[in-house]
Amino acid sequence: MSLLGVGIGVLVREYGNLSNLDKVYFAFPGELLMRMLKLIILPLIISSMITGVAALDSNISGKIGLRAVVYYFSTTVIAVILGIILVVTIKPGVTQRASDIDRMGSTPEVNTVDALLDLIRSSNKHKKSFKTTIAVDKNSSIFREESSTTAATAKASENKTQEYKIVGMYSNGINALGLIVFCLVFGVVIGKMGDKGQVLMHFFNALNEATMRIVQIIMWYMPIGIVFLIAGKIIEVEDWEIFRKLGLYMATVITGLAIHSSIVLPLIYLIIVRKNPFRFAMGMAQALLTALMISSSSATLPVTFRCAEEKNLIDKRITRFVLPVGATINMDGTALYEAVAAIFIAQLNDLQLDIGQIVTISVTATAASIGAAGVPQAGLVTMVIVLSAIGLPAEDVTLIIAVDWLLDRFRTMVNVLGDAFGTGIVEKLSKKELEQMDVTSEVNIVNPF
Ligand code: ASP
Repeated sequence: MSLLGVGIGVLVREYGNLSNLDKVYFAFPGELLMRMLKLIILPLIISSMITGVAALDSNISGKIGLRAVVYYFSTTVIAVILGIILVVTIKPGVTQRASDIDRMGSTPEVNTVDALLDLIRSSNKHKKSFKTTIAVDKNSSIFREESSTTAATAKASENKTQEYKIVGMYSNGINALGLIVFCLVFGVVIGKMGDKGQVLMHFFNALNEATMRIVQIIMWYMPIGIVFLIAGKIIEVEDWEIFRKLGLYMATVITGLAIHSSIVLPLIYLIIVRKNPFRFAMGMAQALLTALMISSSSATLPVTFRCAEEKNLIDKRITRFVLPVGATINMDGTALYEAVAAIFIAQLNDLQLDIGQIVTISVTATAASIGAAGVPQAGLVTMVIVLSAIGLPAEDVTLIIAVDWLLDRFRTMVNVLGDAFGTGIVEKLSKKELEQMDVTSEVNIVNPF
């Protein structure tokens, strides 16, 4: 499908001669897919997390949660270290100068501490500081998601430069972290209510089933949507030269992602689960491809669920818990990319980093990946935290904007793979508790009173 999309995109690009407005119409089937997926995220997270947590004894859910968090954190740190080793060795920015690479606009200044606090509180404060409208080149893909969706905006973008709002990157509608905390608490409370809580349990179980049925319908439409998503992107990119300029930087990020996904994560899975990690990854193929096409781990969530439960047969009590949280906070690919990009920008600016600054990059890159929402190019925005922590101007993020839409696809794929391996690993580590629960529920069924 993706190849077909590339083919159609190249053909239309060469011979189509489309106006900006036509391009918006052309990309519409792809946009429809994204909107359907985004629509389903909210009921999916709510119903799966609440029923998942409520079905577990609070002691057990605490243990499972702790295991998941330890897994998320350790793999993210490994990814950051891997990224740093590669970028320091390959030095993609040393041969280039910042002035050789086109800046695609300017970014307002953000205070590091404020930005970090905003990750936790998801407050408007940070969003407001980004609300400044800024002038950027009309092709800057970071703003495309928000800007190219209406015909009216397309008309407006006929001008050479156009004002877009960076706030769009943040305000994807859902405060995922807040939602997850709420669902966790709600699930634990329902679980503790005993018989009285059963009505709610039935309700959320039914909601979960209905949501998964809608997911099935979306999956039917997915191939069509994906063709147009890719083709729509191909006809939009105008400056292919920038890929050559930033080639070594892209190669560094992609090499890191490849090592992390084909060696590091499989090895951890093999050591703990003692099963073939590549067979497991093959089971996730559809989710990985979806992530590659749509660059959003949250929007890929419905497919991740299906693959983990139906292809890899992971216990639903684990997936319902580990996947939604993982899609929000576990982003190995993003963490690796943040570290590489920050050091690359430092190299472009001839800044010699000392060990303290490298440690700062590792810590802030980890935090920035946790704080990034699972939406397209969220990592590029949270990169500002890493840059300002080592004293680089936030606007230097614009040096890498032009190629970010492409790297985003690969890192999102690694993010989703990390979440998927997490379900297998946490399931294995929680085997005893799950079996214990099976026995208890059997006893309850035989003797309900
Ligand atoms: N697009 C990524 C995701 O959804 C986040 C990012 O790195 O920008 O996982």
